[in-house]
Amino acid sequence: MTREFTNNFYKLSIALLGGVCLLAASLHLDPAVISWKFGILFLFTVLIAPRLSLTLPRSKFILNFSDSMVFLTFLLFGGEAAILIAAAEMLANCLYFKFRGVEFARFTLAFNVGTMALATGITYFVWNVAKLFIKFGPDSAATTQIITKLAILAFSQFVFSSLFASVYYSLKNRVSPWQAWKKEGFSISVTHFAGAGLAGIVFKLLNYADTYSIVISLIASIVIYYNYRQIISEMTTSIEQAEQAERDKTEAEREKRIEIEKYADELALSLKKEADTGNALRKSQRAFQHAALHDSLTKLPNRAYFGELVRELIAEAKKGENPKSYILFLDLVRFKTINDSLGHTIGDKVLMVVSKRFSRMLRATDRVARLGGDEFAIILRGLSSDDKAEKVAWKIHQKIAQPFSLSKNRIYTGVNIGIAPLAADYETPEEILRDADIAMHDAKVKGSGVAFFNRELREKFIAQATLEAELPFAIERRELSMHYQPLVSLRDGSLVGFEALLRWNHHRLGFISPAEFIPIAENTGQIIPITKWILGETCQQLEKWQKFAAHPDGLVVSVNISGKHLSTFGLVEDVKKALKKSGLPPSALKLEITESAAMENAVQTIQILTSLKELGVQLSIDDFGTGYSSLSYLHRLPFDTLKIDRSFVNSVGENGEDSEILQTIISLAKNLRMGVIAEGIETESQLGILKNLGCDYGQGYLMSRPLPKDPMEELLHKKTYWLPAPPEDENNDGRESRRRDKTAALV
Ligand code: C2E
Ligand code: MG
Ligand code: MG
Repeated sequence: MTREFTNNFYKLSIALLGGVCLLAASLHLDPAVISWKFGILFLFTVLIAPRLSLTLPRSKFILNFSDSMVFLTFLLFGGEAAILIAAAEMLANCLYFKFRGVEFARFTLAFNVGTMALATGITYFVWNVAKLFIKFGPDSAATTQIITKLAILAFSQFVFSSLFASVYYSLKNRVSPWQAWKKEGFSISVTHFAGAGLAGIVFKLLNYADTYSIVISLIASIVIYYNYRQIISEMTTSIEQAEQAERDKTEAEREKRIEIEKYADELALSLKKEADTGNALRKSQRAFQHAALHDSLTKLPNRAYFGELVRELIAEAKKGENPKSYILFLDLVRFKTINDSLGHTIGDKVLMVVSKRFSRMLRATDRVARLGGDEFAIILRGLSSDDKAEKVAWKIHQKIAQPFSLSKNRIYTGVNIGIAPLAADYETPEEILRDADIAMHDAKVKGSGVAFFNRELREKFIAQATLEAELPFAIERRELSMHYQPLVSLRDGSLVGFEALLRWNHHRLGFISPAEFIPIAENTGQIIPITKWILGETCQQLEKWQKFAAHPDGLVVSVNISGKHLSTFGLVEDVKKALKKSGLPPSALKLEITESAAMENAVQTIQILTSLKELGVQLSIDDFGTGYSSLSYLHRLPFDTLKIDRSFVNSVGENGEDSEILQTIISLAKNLRMGVIAEGIETESQLGILKNLGCDYGQGYLMSRPLPKDPMEELLHKKTYWLPAPPEDENNDGRESRRRDKTAALV
């Protein structure tokens, strides 16, 4: 059985039983009841009473006049009339609501009418039963009797109508009938008892009052009713207003809560955003800090960071805390050549490979940094002796010297390392780095690869730095001057020319050797303006001395040209200018270029030498034998003469021992069709050997030391034969030997 079926079955059963009650009531209705009084009561009950109900504010209790009418009918016209009135009232009421648009479920209207008829019918029955047990007096209008009667009626009516309603409600909503009764039934009890009370009052009035009193009571009742209704309406309105205000307040609070929640969400969001921004800021701060302290290419600590680390070590050393540490200064070999010839991308990769090699070789306590360019620095911590530091340096030196491949190129590099022990007397990181750098320079110059710092090195370095700073002012201070050393024909002892040699007489330091300041001039680039000055000076000087020439070809002056100057095309221009200014024929100027300088940057050297040759000047290769000439390359260079390095002349013994190299060089020069000059001839035996080997020309202290222009000019006036021993000539009347003696006094 479905719920709906049960429900409908119940409704129809009640409707049917109600119908039976109605039928029975109609059949047993006393015809005397049908009167104008009953008519008025009927119409009032059906048309007006339902509209007069009063709902008590904030409760389900309804004061229903319809119930009063039913009870009143009961009292006035009997139970049958009450059943009819109750059914009619319910029907009218339902129709009225239907007319107002209320939808009734199936059989509900019939059930409602049936319920009223049945409940009233049962009440009538209960009343009849009660009459058997309760003895009523003859005055049916006596108050106690009315109260008792109405109480029985109201109670019975309440019990049965609430019972039927509760059962209906429990079936409909699937709750127990008891629960349904509690919820719905109890509220209608008041309706019944209040209705019964009202009916009692009206009954009393109708029985005991005259018409005027009834009319007055009626009017008073109407006034009271409307007043009461008005009060209730106002109460209801104000309650509704209060409720509305309550609802509005709740709604406002709800909205406020939503607003607060939204605000809280927004706040949480903005806090999160702020936290995110803070994180991003901290991240970028960290990245910025990292970038500020690290080299972007190799990711190694940079100079600033390294400086800080060294500063801490110095502080520890001052407190006597740290075990011995060493600072290594490292400079890559040939890095500039790699960068220039293979490009900067390869150069960068070389730096990265080298950095990795450094890092892999060090212990966790050591640190490596890139100071800039191809310079690196290392901190070695906790070593017990200088030997150990040197050992590590050598290991690094060997590792870096191992060639490696990069983009199909075989890379050969190396590293010069300077070592400085960290001592407590250092004040700043720059000081110890400078000392390690000085040691590195020493390693570079000596070609030793690794060098330890010592105080002499620093003094030497400071002296060099002083020279470096003072050299640019040397020309204008007139501290530079030229010395000239004769070049002599070994065949006939005649003067063929001079080598011009630069001298620096420092206003404070005195005479400074070219071996000391020429490398500085070359490193700083000062050699170029200085050579321009030399070319001007010497060309002018030789032009003046041409009158002392023994041969028609005239005298030749040899000017040393540094490798640095040779690598610029400006040299050709500088030579041209000097020749033009002095009026010296180009063939009277010889440019001496050391073998090692000539071998560097071969292609460009050939071009510049060819341009110089086209000017008509002569070219000589200096210090031959000290470099590593490729013979095929040498063959292509347009040199006129070859100057044998002093060391080969020196090493020949008194009786011509170890003269094979000299012989080889002389034959090589002849084969290359070059003239040969031997420099550094100090003894007659050396002279004799060179003569025997067929050397064309000679230069050395044996013939003359380099002299300033004035003493040299004096010599030129006096000498025509420049070798020590006079020729075996009968016509010689001893003038040569006298001249030689004079010269000896000067040299
Ligand atoms: P160098 O061009 O080979 O010059 C010859 C050097 O040998 C000179 O040294 C000269 O004084 C020295 N000398 C000559 N005969 C003898 C001798 O019999 N015994 C000994 N022991 N030495 C002798 P100096 O003048 O000290 O010049 C040294 C080097 O400095 C030169 O070697 C040259 O490379 C460079 N130099 C000198 N003047 C100039 C210059 O004007 N320009 C450039 N670029 N370099 C120069
Ligand atoms: Mg020379
Ligand atoms: Mg030389």
